[in-house]
Amino acid sequence: MELSRKAEILLVEDNEADIRLTKEALEETKVLNNLSVVKDGEKALDFVFKRKGFEEAPSPDLILLDLNLPYKSGKEVLAEIKSHPELKSIPVVMLSTSQAKEDINGAYLLHANCFLSKPVDFEEFVKLTQKTTSYWLETARLPELQ
Ligand SMILES: [Mg+2]
Repeated sequence: MELSRKAEILLVEDNEADIRLTKEALEETKVLNNLSVVKDGEKALDFVFKRKGFEEAPSPDLILLDLNLPYKSGKEVLAEIKSHPELKSIPVVMLSTSQAKEDINGAYLLHANCFLSKPVDFEEFVKLTQKTTSYWLETARLPELQ
C-alpha cells in the first residue's frame, strides 16, 4: 500500500558507483521517495539513532544496507537495529556481492528482512533496486514509527 507521503529510504553504501546507480534507479521510479545516503556503518547507526549531527534525520521506512562497510560492518549495523525495541520493525534489505552461504544465512539469523545479491550488470542493478523499493514501499504495508 502506498504511503500518503514521501517514502524515506536510507541507503548505507560505501561504493560510489552503487550509490549513483541506486540514485538513478530511485529517480526513475514512480514511488515518491527521499533518499538519504551514509557511507559507513557508524554513520548508519548515528542516522537511525538521530545523534552526532543526525538529530534532524528522518525515520527511514526502508533501509538498504550494504554488507561490507567501513568502521562497522553491515552485520553489526543490522544486529543493532534488530535488537532495538522500535527500530527493529524497519525493513532492512541487505545487499552484497557475496554469494557466500554464511553471509546469507548470517543476515537472516540477524533478522534481515531480505538478502539480495548485487548484480554486476548495471541495468540489472537498477531493475533490482526498483523492484525492491516498489515491493517494500508500494506492495507491503509498513509500520508507522514516531
Ligand atoms: Mg561495501
